[in-house]
Amino acid sequence: MNRDDNQSQHSEYIAAVNVVQLLKTKGHIAYLAGGCVRDLLLGIDPKDFDVATDATPENIGQYFKRTASVGAAFGVMLVRDYGCTIEVATFRSDGVYSDTRRPDSVQFSSPIEDAQRRDFTINALFMDPLEDSNSPKIIDFVEGMIDVEKRVLRAVGDPEARLREDHLRALRGVRFAAKYGLAIEKRTFDSIRNHASELSGVSVERIGEEMRKMLIHSSRTESCKLIDQLDLDNAIFGDSKQFDPTVMKALPIEVEYSVVLVALAIGRGFIIGNDVGKICSHYRRVLDLSNNDRDSMKAILIGVGEFNQKWSGLSIAMKKRLLSLEHAVFSLEILKILNHEQAQVIFDERSSLEQSFGGLSPEPFVSGADLIELGLKPGPDFKFVLDSSYDAQLEGAVRTKLAAIAFASQLAKERAINEQ
Ligand code: ATP
Ligand code: MG
Repeated sequence: MNRDDNQSQHSEYIAAVNVVQLLKTKGHIAYLAGGCVRDLLLGIDPKDFDVATDATPENIGQYFKRTASVGAAFGVMLVRDYGCTIEVATFRSDGVYSDTRRPDSVQFSSPIEDAQRRDFTINALFMDPLEDSNSPKIIDFVEGMIDVEKRVLRAVGDPEARLREDHLRALRGVRFAAKYGLAIEKRTFDSIRNHASELSGVSVERIGEEMRKMLIHSSRTESCKLIDQLDLDNAIFGDSKQFDPTVMKALPIEVEYSVVLVALAIGRGFIIGNDVGKICSHYRRVLDLSNNDRDSMKAILIGVGEFNQKWSGLSIAMKKRLLSLEHAVFSLEILKILNHEQAQVIFDERSSLEQSFGGLSPEPFVSGADLIELGLKPGPDFKFVLDSSYDAQLEGAVRTKLAAIAFASQLAKERAINEQ
């Protein structure tokens, strides 16, 4: 976390405390709630600070100058009076979950009922930041503090019922357990496993979003192991495979999502050289990937295949072109883990190619405009002549713009003769 993040977090904390303070002066109960309390207690910087209160959305609209309603039916308002946006939610109990996704109705209620609707005990704690400035007071209706201290993830209430209500909680549970290094309490663990197959009823958008959160975090390998242990893999990926963590474990902590996806696919048994298009379409579908992520995943996997199996047979120009591709560094990152020796050969050659005439990706001597000046008409030959001239430049066979134009002109003439 850098200084700017720290600063903005501090401002957000102050803004949330101001919201709590104003609500209290109006005679309401108001607490910090949910993820921020959990993070503070576990010694992690919260990414946002949410407030829970017995004031209604209508009250909130009256008390603060700058508010916006985001789902007034669920009792959630945004307050912007103190320089940051703070989510302020009215204490509520959720109604029946008939589509296992969102409660059909919510009812405004008391702090205890609001704690009881939450998924895990560590997520169901409230904090009063104003009670005592030295040590803020924790309000705990679910014995969540014991779980924080023991580092245990436990469903609030009856785990069976909670997992049946909303199957996404299974994945949230995996994410929290992995991210915070928590042991999953036995009954919670068993309930997640019992209801594992029902996760397939949750929309791919929700699953994809949760998986992305899990996989971009440094605890990604732990999450994948838990998914296996809890038998959630079939519901997520549509097949059951033993996850091999070798590649994922070796990735740097901060890494592009598409690189993690490649590590995931390899960990779940994808063999380099197999049908890349098919595996990437599959992951796009089950994880609701963007086209961009799917395309990057594909480019990286293709690159790994070329570096691993085709490298020694490539011309200098082809090697330079391959090394200059946008995703080449990621392909090499993966290759380094899979086949260290081959990656080393490529790194060594890359250094010498960088030193060679023009380096890896010099500005082309010959442009389309040059070819038009030579009298060429845009068409298939046009591209061929451009590519061949650039190849000659990359090989060091032509070393000046003049020589390159002469080369292109000669080639264009030969093509024209051949076509007659
Ligand atoms: P993070 O934002 O780091 O993912 P969070 O705990 O803040 O974690 P949110 O999705 O922002 O998670 O939700 C805020 C709070 O709302 C949670 O702490 C939890 O108390 C409650 N909550 C969220 N999703 C669910 C759910 N599916 N079932 C029950 N309670 C939930
Ligand atoms: Mg949150």
